Amino acid sequence: MAGIKAEDTRASRSEADTLGMEAEEMRRLGHRVVDIVVDRLINRAGEPAILTGEADELLAQLGGPIPNQPLDPEESLRLLAEVAFTHQQRGDHPRYFARVPGPSSFGAILGDWLGTGFNAITASWAGGSGPATLELVVIDWLRQLLGLPSDYEGVLVSGGSHASLTAFAAVQAQRGTGTVYLTDQTHSSLPRALKVLGFSESQIHILPSDEQFRMPVQALREAIAGHRRAGARPLMVIGTAGTTNTGTVDPLPELAAICEAEELWLHVDAAYGGPGCLSASGREDLKGIELAHSLVLDPHKWLFQPYDAGCLLIRPGMLERSFDMNPEYLRDVTAGTGEVDFRNRGLELTRRTRAAKLWLSLRTYGVERFREAIDHGLNLAREAQKYLAANPRRWEIIVPAQLGIVCFALRGAGDDEHEERVRLLSESGYACISSTRLKGKTVFRLCTINPLTSTDDLEGTIDRLAALS
Ligand SMILES: *Cc1c(COP(=O)(O)O)cnc(C)c1O
Repeated sequence: MAGIKAEDTRASRSEADTLGMEAEEMRRLGHRVVDIVVDRLINRAGEPAILTGEADELLAQLGGPIPNQPLDPEESLRLLAEVAFTHQQRGDHPRYFARVPGPSSFGAILGDWLGTGFNAITASWAGGSGPATLELVVIDWLRQLLGLPSDYEGVLVSGGSHASLTAFAAVQAQRGTGTVYLTDQTHSSLPRALKVLGFSESQIHILPSDEQFRMPVQALREAIAGHRRAGARPLMVIGTAGTTNTGTVDPLPELAAICEAEELWLHVDAAYGGPGCLSASGREDLKGIELAHSLVLDPHKWLFQPYDAGCLLIRPGMLERSFDMNPEYLRDVTAGTGEVDFRNRGLELTRRTRAAKLWLSLRTYGVERFREAIDHGLNLAREAQKYLAANPRRWEIIVPAQLGIVCFALRGAGDDEHEERVRLLSESGYACISSTRLKGKTVFRLCTINPLTSTDDLEGTIDRLAALS
């Protein structure tokens, strides 16, 4: 146990690095990396919110012949920090409101760095019991925060896309194939996952969303009944808890009741909106989320984690029954001992630790700090709505603030002009927002989940959007 040291027969062994870097140089470059990152974080609000490069210019700076001999690491670090990593969306910039921001926290970054430094592996219990325990602990913390039943299990994966794919593969393995119900607001990674698993086009039943972009409950009931009459086999309903487009939550209690009555699987995609559960008002919007049979959330979006971190929570037994690589002997060895082989809970075998960052950041800041930060994001979207509503001759609110997202349009401006203003705003560097298509019309969309965003940032962005042309 702790304190045991392996005996090294070569007493003189002192190499720190497998490829020969001296310990002093390791410290010097390691500290340099910390300084580069912290300097950038301090100064991030002065950077452009997004920067997209030209392919040939980036290649000219970052490419070249294979370096057969060592090159100056300081210069290489500079190229990474000043060329490679500056040309991207700055998801943690206080005026990055596009797509879904990635406002990662330093406590989480440190956990990722440490896990990488130890080359932590979370594949089998025997090969990584410490990292596996971290993952079990973190998954159970997430489960509690979302309010799911205590026997639910989970796995950390690269993100929402992979988490839903894993859930669908398990449902298919345990229950067979059938018709799946979703809406035109379901994230496109979900129908893609169904397609790669072999679901046919007619088995992927996309319902047009209602006026409020929610799944229409009556139309769902009719579709299920119609398919049963036609001899098809309804299998699963996919609800979204916070759509990427508008932050809308499907009527989860109603979907759960239908799934119960019809014996269908209920998958809830809370990749974006799940962390809203930490806030009292968000929890209200997300009621029914705890009724999911499988649920996906993305800590790398609204839980302040660096990429990548997605999480699947699911009814017990589903994952191991579907993915166990050595079912014949592993079952007896590990059953009931609390020793989990994470390679048997998904489609990855060799796995880094994605739990260390969550574990360290939740301990470092405490859940109350996360709660405040999420409340701040929810409030900002409401503030944006209020600011827009104060000028009704200029702005039209298309979808009111929901879970940190608000969609709006400039009166008198067509689709092209909306897109053009989004482009000009990005090019100015001041801020970055999205345009999206809703019911055939291009509109502006703000996602306000960065705890560093101020009211001034918000109003400055909206004012510039109006002034550009
Ligand atoms: C982002 C998102 C996804 C996809 O998640 P990735 O982490 O990008 O793979 C799925 N569903 C929703 C609602 C999302 O917002």
